[in-house]
Amino acid sequence: MKAIVLKGFGDVDVLVEEDVEAPTVGDEEVLLKVAGCGICYRDTIVRRGFMKARIPVIPGHEVSGFVVEMGGSVRGFSRGDLAASLIYIFNPGDPECGLGRENTCRGNRWVGEDVNGCYAEYVKLPYWVLTRIGDPGEAGPEAYSFSACVIGTLIRAYKTLGGVREGEYVLVTGASGGVGLHAVQVGKALGLRVVAVTRSEDKARLVEKMGADSVIVYRDRFAEEARRVTDGRGPDIVIETVGGPTLEQSIRAVNRGGRIMLIGNVDPKPQQLLLGLIILKEVKVLGVLNSTLRELGEAVELIRSGRVKPFYKTIGLEVGEVREAHRILESGRSTGRIVIKP
Ligand SMILES: [Zn+2]
Repeated sequence: MKAIVLKGFGDVDVLVEEDVEAPTVGDEEVLLKVAGCGICYRDTIVRRGFMKARIPVIPGHEVSGFVVEMGGSVRGFSRGDLAASLIYIFNPGDPECGLGRENTCRGNRWVGEDVNGCYAEYVKLPYWVLTRIGDPGEAGPEAYSFSACVIGTLIRAYKTLGGVREGEYVLVTGASGGVGLHAVQVGKALGLRVVAVTRSEDKARLVEKMGADSVIVYRDRFAEEARRVTDGRGPDIVIETVGGPTLEQSIRAVNRGGRIMLIGNVDPKPQQLLLGLIILKEVKVLGVLNSTLRELGEAVELIRSGRVKPFYKTIGLEVGEVREAHRILESGRSTGRIVIKP
């Protein structure tokens, strides 16, 4: 089968197109014909060597696909089913991986890092990390590729860890990016008042179209404006999709007792934190590590019902296009998600 393989760490030319053996399934594994493989900012971090991926490896952890083969012990799937996957493989026999915590389980193997991922025509995964989608509805089968990594993570941030209540104000940073545009939509689906911040004047209209109640276009600072549009209090919760470059402004903006949900970080270097302000305002800064099966299920439902409309463009399984997608993500120029459709 055709695949894009990570041959080492470095610039985009470590991604190479190869003809490799199609995987053969074990007893508890399912072979998916890839319908969509989302390209994530994480993939660029993996490529640069920050995630200690095994080399060579087929990258890509955001997968939806059709079941074409199954091992003898697979339960709950039939050939032809459309399925979406978690982005890691947990051990269901480990008590630490118990319900709702499988994302932080110690022994997890990450798809596209420790095991081969979906920059390929086929990918194999154990059946317990998959969710059956059924009728995809108005969304294309490839639209479900990022249900775990994007929509599921947002559900974990908003509901599971963030405990949002209807009518609260949320601030979304990086609102025109691949995660941000969906953070706006999920926020609205949960009944929140959404304040979106972006540095791109051109993309502000799009963010508005996704349902944001107010959009702040900023150069260096947005905290003051964010407080102004939230009745002077500041947002109750921040969905921080950018990390380092925006965190200080998020801490300055957030309401007393507010929560800052760290979903993404574009800068792997250590960051300065405003510890005094975090104490004075009793801010909670919480890390969000992707999603669990329950959140993946909710994500699929939000997409299928049309309450969240995945926003993405597709590219082919071609090394040139994949390298260019990595460049776009790293430059911060991306709008919505980029999905490989083999
Ligand atoms: Zn991802």
